Amino acid sequence: MAAPEARTIVQLADRYDHYIGGEWVPPSSGKYFATIDPSSEGVLSEVALGEEADVGAAVHAARVALPGWSALPGAERGKALFRIARILQERSREFAVLESMDGGKPIRESRDVDIPLAAAHFFYYAGWADKLEYAFPGRSVRPLGVAAQVIPWNFPLLMAAWKLAPALACGNTCVLKPAETTPLTALLLADVLRQAGLQPGVVNIVTGDGGTGAGLVRHPGVDKVAFTGSTAVGKEIYRRAAGKRVTLELGGKAANIVFEDAALDQAVEGIVNGIYFNQGHVCCAGSRLLVQESVAESLLRKLRHRMDHLILGDPLDKNTDVGAINSREQLSRIQEYQAVGVAEGAEIYQASCALPEKGYWYPPTFFTGVSQSHRLAQEEIFGPVLAVITFRTPEEAVEKANNTPYGLSAGIWTDKGSKIFKMLGKMRAGVVWANTFNKFDPTSPFGGYKESGFGREGGRHGLAAYLDVR
Ligand code: NAD
Repeated sequence: MAAPEARTIVQLADRYDHYIGGEWVPPSSGKYFATIDPSSEGVLSEVALGEEADVGAAVHAARVALPGWSALPGAERGKALFRIARILQERSREFAVLESMDGGKPIRESRDVDIPLAAAHFFYYAGWADKLEYAFPGRSVRPLGVAAQVIPWNFPLLMAAWKLAPALACGNTCVLKPAETTPLTALLLADVLRQAGLQPGVVNIVTGDGGTGAGLVRHPGVDKVAFTGSTAVGKEIYRRAAGKRVTLELGGKAANIVFEDAALDQAVEGIVNGIYFNQGHVCCAGSRLLVQESVAESLLRKLRHRMDHLILGDPLDKNTDVGAINSREQLSRIQEYQAVGVAEGAEIYQASCALPEKGYWYPPTFFTGVSQSHRLAQEEIFGPVLAVITFRTPEEAVEKANNTPYGLSAGIWTDKGSKIFKMLGKMRAGVVWANTFNKFDPTSPFGGYKESGFGREGGRHGLAAYLDVR
């Protein structure tokens, strides 16, 4: 039976301006663009399209606010972050509903993962704000200045929290550019910042597209660029951000490795969580299943059974496991990869769920018969599509797991602790989960190797990205 969460808790404006210097400022060009609900294709609201003048105004506001904010005692900055965290908790239902409306993710995920983790991030970095000198003993630290922060659409509020919380704790001021398809929770966050009494200009939010982001990261008034998004854009940003401190959190193609001695039912849950959580729009998604040959058949039988019981549909329904694909563009990209997989000779299996008529939908899918050279095994799809590859020995598993341009995350499923430790030392991945997957905590650093980027977010390491440590 359907159990939809009420949308009435969200008060949407017809249109949103930029948030600059603590005020709502109309776009200099007068242009707005629509943000839609991907589950219905209905327009939710219009948001300002940021151009050079808007970016310039936001950077200017951040520069003006910088001396005051960075000179505040750390304990005072901490208090402001604690207030933001608490208000996020108080307004969590409103944020969760809005996140699911604008992004298409199941309410269960925005309610239980995105919003609580965003609040937890502010809580965690609030605690560091007056202890920065202890984070780097014997060294002196100072903020970098104005941070330009560009984020993607898969975890909109959470990515904003990952960027803002450490930057603010360290005494920087910020200009945040949310993704074009999911700007609404960042704009609601502006309201929380005001409610928390944050000084004007400490956080500025400019909405827009890739052009807006490009203008922001190359602005001469910016000292630090923090980008989360695709590897292609990350490379371009790196070329253009000469002279600035840069951290890049990019794509992934994680291996989820299941050994024959693993608890298979538990592993199936981990595989489902690894690739179908958030419709596979997860940088660290376990998008390659590496399964030991001896258990491949029984594992896939269990996986098919589990997939056929996943509930796909209304993101606001509390029963929903798989929501809408974030945009028409992303759906086309996933469909193209499906065609590529079939053309490469891999065999497709799709969950037997009906797709709603309106909106952007794609069923949980896996491909077998995938070889290392297939594009399905090498390229990030960013959708609910799993590439299944078999292996015989742990050495072969390591070799196959590392055979990718990326290195963000991995999973290992086995009964043997010794096997976990042996594998850990050989995996080229920033995060390795053992007998679990997609577990996040603000105290734990997250980031990649190779084309997955550099720099760490979360934990004490996340402070280093926003400080000049001498
Ligand atoms: P994207 O690179 O297309 O866009 C990300 C952001 O960058 C958006 O706000 C966009 O407007 C902006 N942008 C686009 N072109 C730009 C340019 N030339 N200069 C500056 N900004 C620009 O990525 P996406 O499709 O929104 O997100 C999906 C990607 O993000 C995936 O590759 C995923 O793996 C990655 N991701 C990585 C992490 C991580 O922590 N490593 C987390 C989430 C997502």
